[in-house]
Amino acid sequence: MHVTLLGTGGPRPDPERQGPATLVEASRLAVLFDAGRGVATQLVRANVRAEDLDAVFITHHHFDHIGGLGDLILAAWNNGRTRPLPVFGPPGTAAIIDGLLDQVYARDINFRIAEEWVHGRLLDHPRAFLEVKEVLSQRIDLPNGVEVTSGQVEHGSMGIELSIEEWSANGYRISAEGRHVAISGDAVAGLELADLAHQADALVMCAYLSEGEITTSEETFLTEQVLAGAPQAAAIAQEAGVGHLILTHIREKSDVAIELMRSQITEVFPGEVTVGSDLMTIDA
Ligand SMILES: [Zn+2]
Repeated sequence: MHVTLLGTGGPRPDPERQGPATLVEASRLAVLFDAGRGVATQLVRANVRAEDLDAVFITHHHFDHIGGLGDLILAAWNNGRTRPLPVFGPPGTAAIIDGLLDQVYARDINFRIAEEWVHGRLLDHPRAFLEVKEVLSQRIDLPNGVEVTSGQVEHGSMGIELSIEEWSANGYRISAEGRHVAISGDAVAGLELADLAHQADALVMCAYLSEGEITTSEETFLTEQVLAGAPQAAAIAQEAGVGHLILTHIREKSDVAIELMRSQITEVFPGEVTVGSDLMTIDA
């Protein structure tokens, strides 16, 4: 399996890191996890076109993870996609896509369809190729024997006291040809994340703050209840027995701080550690 980190940043615009998005290529499928800021452009840089994706999985609905979703869908459509594209995500994903197609981009879609009529060509609405499926904890079979398991991860709902209807976040595990890659999404430690990551060959894990950046009560709350920092990511990977910890969703920091973060993780986690950067490709 090839893992390409398309975007390794977070909500803060960062000139070095686009929004969260990870491409996994396995058994001749191209599967995208999250569609953060800049995803359509990053896919082109990774030599995969938006219209060639086989499935899209959304982890949750923070804007950094779906900021590029409308762009991705319309770029695929504008480039002629008609083949069905399954889009999976937690409850609320269908309403977001409806909002993009029926509200945000309704005028653009009408324009392009009308323009095609002028040229005598028939253009389907983008809805015709989208297959949106909301998932919680379940197994999803993709073509070519590729299997994805979705699980509920803890991304703030307990600390902020939101119900599953108000706030639901997924992690995923993709398996193909005997290899397994887990995608944490944004998460802190939890039972289902532990299951998704269990003995995985690689875990693509959020690690927003390094140990030295967790100083205030707000940052402590963030890393314990909402979004793992480097120490939490190391502990999750160590307990799950993963082979390779790949860090993403990293807040802007100096090269020295990045290297310090990596070395602190290696004190806890015995496997391979990669601090991700945009367009890095890893064999997993
Ligand atoms: Zn995020």
